[in-house]
Amino acid sequence: MFTIKNHLEKRNGHLIIGGVDTVDLVEEFGTPLYVTNEQRIRDNYRRYHQAFPEADLYYAAKANNNLTIMRILAQEGAGADVFSDGELYLALLAGIPREKILFNGNSKTDRELEMAVETGVRVSVDSLDELHTLSRIASSQKKTMDIALRVNPDVSPVTHPKISTGLKTSKFGIPHKEVVEAYKEAVELEGINPIGMHCHIGSQILDTSPFSETINRMMDLVEQVTRLGVELEFLDIGSGLGIPYKKGEVAPTPQDLSDIVLPIFRKRSQAIGVDIKLVIEPGRYLLGDTTILLTSVNTMKKAAKKFVGVDAGFNLLIRPAMYDSYHHVVVANKVAAPVSSIYTVVGPICETGDILAHDRELPAVEKDDIVAILDAGAYGFCMSSQYNGRPRCAEILVNEGKVDVIRKAENFDDLMAKQLVPARFL
Ligand SMILES: *Cc1c(COP(=O)(O)O)cnc(C)c1O
Repeated sequence: MFTIKNHLEKRNGHLIIGGVDTVDLVEEFGTPLYVTNEQRIRDNYRRYHQAFPEADLYYAAKANNNLTIMRILAQEGAGADVFSDGELYLALLAGIPREKILFNGNSKTDRELEMAVETGVRVSVDSLDELHTLSRIASSQKKTMDIALRVNPDVSPVTHPKISTGLKTSKFGIPHKEVVEAYKEAVELEGINPIGMHCHIGSQILDTSPFSETINRMMDLVEQVTRLGVELEFLDIGSGLGIPYKKGEVAPTPQDLSDIVLPIFRKRSQAIGVDIKLVIEPGRYLLGDTTILLTSVNTMKKAAKKFVGVDAGFNLLIRPAMYDSYHHVVVANKVAAPVSSIYTVVGPICETGDILAHDRELPAVEKDDIVAILDAGAYGFCMSSQYNGRPRCAEILVNEGKVDVIRKAENFDDLMAKQLVPARFL
């Protein structure tokens, strides 16, 4: 069942989110519409924090960079993992303290590194080349930067290849066999203070064994680097905890992750004789299930399949098209109705791949019904585009029956926003 207490519920045959009837939301705001439940964000954060009470949680800003949503996480005490100058700007604006921000990225511009130096955040350095550039920028500003080195641990999680980041052939990080040499070099460089070690093996991982492999491999490196005389203050193991998108899918919980990681981390820290802080960077787990995308049925078509044509496509939710992701869908105004047939839910975009849900058992669907796409809170709106000349939709925050608009819908002016037409075309 898709219902979650105090989050997604059924009332009078309608889907309710955060105490608010989705049919009322559509009447007031129209579709497509992203709807996020504030309380669910807080609950997810607290559950993670409870499983890792001594760790710092750096929210992975790329999963959802709506400012209000980042403020909610900042209020809960989250730090941030940012991957660009824009994400750094948003994280600071959201009120996340600079000492809890780690600036990641495999191809940072000099301007981005300057911004890191000016704002005084920590940097996860992805290559020796970057290390030298940062050293030059920091020393020219007479600053010393606290850094981690991003390690490519060569661990292969079972997940979609496009979200596997710690394979030997991945573009991220310094090969684990070269890491010790890299720390030797970092210690000598002006303006560089190596105090951390970082990795991230991938996303939507549904099995805990890659995490135990990772923590062991990282503690091996912590041991070698400590022997060099480097005093590490933190070990950041990234994230990647999957969530159950499919009915019946079982995902490890933060507590399961903690049960695997903490005993190894504690035992080995003690053996090495170091007192380091553990950092984790959850994205999907905190936001994924907090949000639904409401979309209206424009047209029904019976062809080789029964197609439900809705008003949101991969312009607003690219995950199915990009990663073959499964998102559960329900007919929000008919949640009590019995299954009637098998439907394929497609968007309005002029691309064959614009399919949101393949072959799903749904109640009898008709024009103007509301289809809710669940678990759209991570890598949803933030990956949207204006493809096919479609302005982006609004985002709504609900909380215990209250409703706030947290992003206005775009209009045709936004399609033209930064375009300039040279005089000869006027
Ligand atoms: C994407 C990313 C994360 C978040 O991953 P989730 O699977 O969403 O939890 C954390 N750290 C880094 C470095 C990332 O690139």
